[in-house]
Amino acid sequence: MSDPFRDDYRYLTELPEELRDRRRAAARRRRWRRRLAVAGLLAVIGAVVALAITTLGGGGSGGGNETQPSTASAQATPPVYPADWEPHLGPVPILEYHAIQPPVPGADFPQLFVPQADFQRQMQWLADHGYEAVTLDQVEAAWYEDGRLPAKPVVVSFDDGYESQYVAAFPELQHLGWKGVLNLVARDSDLPDADVAKMLDAGWELASHTITHPDLTTLDAAQLDHEVAGSRRVLKRRFGVPVDNFCYPAGRYDDTVISAVRDAGYVGAQSEVPGLATAAHPYVLNRIEVELDDGLPGFVSKLRSAEGA
Ligand SMILES: [Zn+2]
Repeated sequence: MSDPFRDDYRYLTELPEELRDRRRAAARRRRWRRRLAVAGLLAVIGAVVALAITTLGGGGSGGGNETQPSTASAQATPPVYPADWEPHLGPVPILEYHAIQPPVPGADFPQLFVPQADFQRQMQWLADHGYEAVTLDQVEAAWYEDGRLPAKPVVVSFDDGYESQYVAAFPELQHLGWKGVLNLVARDSDLPDADVAKMLDAGWELASHTITHPDLTTLDAAQLDHEVAGSRRVLKRRFGVPVDNFCYPAGRYDDTVISAVRDAGYVGAQSEVPGLATAAHPYVLNRIEVELDDGLPGFVSKLRSAEGA
């Protein structure tokens, strides 16, 4: 269970120039990998088509000519976005949830529990008001590459890894056709790996929330590297998916922690500073923490005040 540390507002320092260079280089590498993959795939398809034509003796050449161009054009445009999604450089709300269930008796931090019925009402309110949940990866693709987002994007993030996130939150997001971001502690989370795998199969993003959920500002260099870079390696290996984003345990960070996160190759890091996340502060992504007492009115007023700030 995460601790109710308050955030320290002193550390809003970023390195946008250096970051922009790094992202440009990363985008170039990704484009090349895509091109190489497409070229390889086209070569294979060409060989198969040639083989089919040879073995069929030309009898099916009409059919072959019809199918080949559509296959090739689908691969030439890798990310396919819905027609109404557009470039988006502005801020995006990231909602922060913990357990999606009533507080367990004797819980140290009952505010970190949001009952499923409240969660459903909050998600339905978003849908009714034109919001559409996306992953943080998709937001960063829009901010730093040439990705696109729906008109009113929102990120729904879940910290630590609780079974109720699979049991209660996952079905609701599935029902809306939305994907969440799971900020998972790499060791001893309450959420079974098999459930995590099902969420990832449905398109959820996996982000690192360290290995043991320590206050990162209290660690020495080796411990910091283990928790930050080590957790990324562990999660990538265990689940076989990219891990591009980080989440500070209890929102605790300082300049040293930010450097470690950046050096480990993360694209962004979620904080508990209230407000909207912005492209200019990738390693202090603000979030809106949703708590037990919020219900629907508190939820709406937190979102409205973040958007108005
Ligand atoms: Zn946490």
